[in-house]
Amino acid sequence: MTDNTNPQRTELSALGEFGLISHLTTGLKTFHKSTLKGVGDDAAVIDNGDEVTLVSKDLLVEGVHFDLTYTPLRHLGYKAAVVNISDIVAMNGTPTQMLVGISVSNRFSVEALDELYAGIRLACERYKVDLVGGDTTSSVSGLFLSITVIGRAKKEEVVYRNTAREHDLICVSGDLGGAYIGLLLLEREKQVYKANPQMQPELEGNDYVLERQLKPEARVDVLEKLRLAGIKPTAMIDISDGLASEVLHIAKDSGLGCRIYENKIPIDVVTADIAAEFKLDPTTAAMNGGEDYELLFTVDVNDFEKVKDLKGIHIIGHMLEKAEGEYLISNGGSLYPIEAQGFDHMKVD
Ligand code: ADP
Ligand code: MG
Repeated sequence: MTDNTNPQRTELSALGEFGLISHLTTGLKTFHKSTLKGVGDDAAVIDNGDEVTLVSKDLLVEGVHFDLTYTPLRHLGYKAAVVNISDIVAMNGTPTQMLVGISVSNRFSVEALDELYAGIRLACERYKVDLVGGDTTSSVSGLFLSITVIGRAKKEEVVYRNTAREHDLICVSGDLGGAYIGLLLLEREKQVYKANPQMQPELEGNDYVLERQLKPEARVDVLEKLRLAGIKPTAMIDISDGLASEVLHIAKDSGLGCRIYENKIPIDVVTADIAAEFKLDPTTAAMNGGEDYELLFTVDVNDFEKVKDLKGIHIIGHMLEKAEGEYLISNGGSLYPIEAQGFDHMKVD
C-alpha cells in the first residue's frame, strides 16, 4: 500500500470521494432479485414483499468529520444518529432500527462514552428508532463512529434520486447555509481560544447557526406535510454536501439539466448576517457548505398549486432537458454553471 516504486499507484486525490466510490463499485453483480437498489442513492432498497427495507450507513472519524474541542459528545452522538436517519427520510421511508459501531482509544472514559450514547439514545427516542446492535473495538488513536440505520417504506412510496422529469419543480425544505456558518463560527472561536485560552468564546446570539451545525434534525415532518398535501416527490435527496452537489446528483442521475434561482434559495437572516461578518456570500454557504440535512426534492409541475403555499417549503427552480445544462441564475440575472464543491475530503484543495 505504501510502495512508492509501484508505477501502478494512483493517489486517492485523483478520484475524489465520488470517483472512488464509483471506481470501487462499478460492475458489482447482484445475486438477489430482492436487491432493488444498490449503490447510488441515500439508502439501499431491498424487496420485502409489499414493503421495502431501506439501509444506510455512515462512518465518522475524529479530526475529519468532527472536532471534539467544540463538539460536545452528546451532540456528536445525536448528530451521527440523525444524519443516518436523514438518509432513510430522503428515500421517503420510516426509520426503524439502528446499529452502532464505535472504535475508541483509551483517551476516552466511560463517562465520555455515556455522553455519546446519551445523544444517540435521545435521537432514537425522538425518531422512534430501536438501537438493536453494533460493534465495539479499541482504536490506536481517536474516536470512530459508524452508524447503520434500517427503515421501511411501501414499495410505491419510495423516492429515488434518479427519477426527476423534465419540467418538474425543484423544492427545498427549511433554510440553507446555516450549518456551514455555524462551523465557521466554531472554528474561529477555536483559533481565538488556541491563541489565548483566557478568552471567553463569543458565541451568544448565534444559537441558530450553532444549533444548525451541532444539532441537525431529519425532516420527517416534511414527509408528513407532503403526504397530507397529496404530493409525492418525483425525486429526493437530503442535503449533506451542499445544494450544488445534491442538485447535480438529482440532475445527472436523472439525465436532465436544471435551473436554480439565487433569489429563491431560502437563507435565514442570522445566517446571512454572520456570513456578512465573514465576508462570505450566503449563497456560497448554501450551495457549497453542506450539513443542513434539509430535503431537496422535485415535484410534478402540475402539483404547483399544492406546493406553492406549503410553509417551510420553497420552490427554487426547475428541471430541463439534459442539453440545457445545470445553472444557477444569479440575482443579477447571470447564469453560473453549478459545480459540486461540497466537502470532498479526499480531494486536495
Ligand atoms: P450520502 O451522502 O447520502 O450518505 P454517499 O455519498 O456517502 O451518500 O454514498 C453514495 C452511495 O455510495 C451510497 O449508495 C453508498 O451506500 C455508496 N457507498 C459509499 N461508500 C461505499 C463503499 N466504500 N463501498 C460501497 N458502496 C459505497
Ligand atoms: Mg444522503
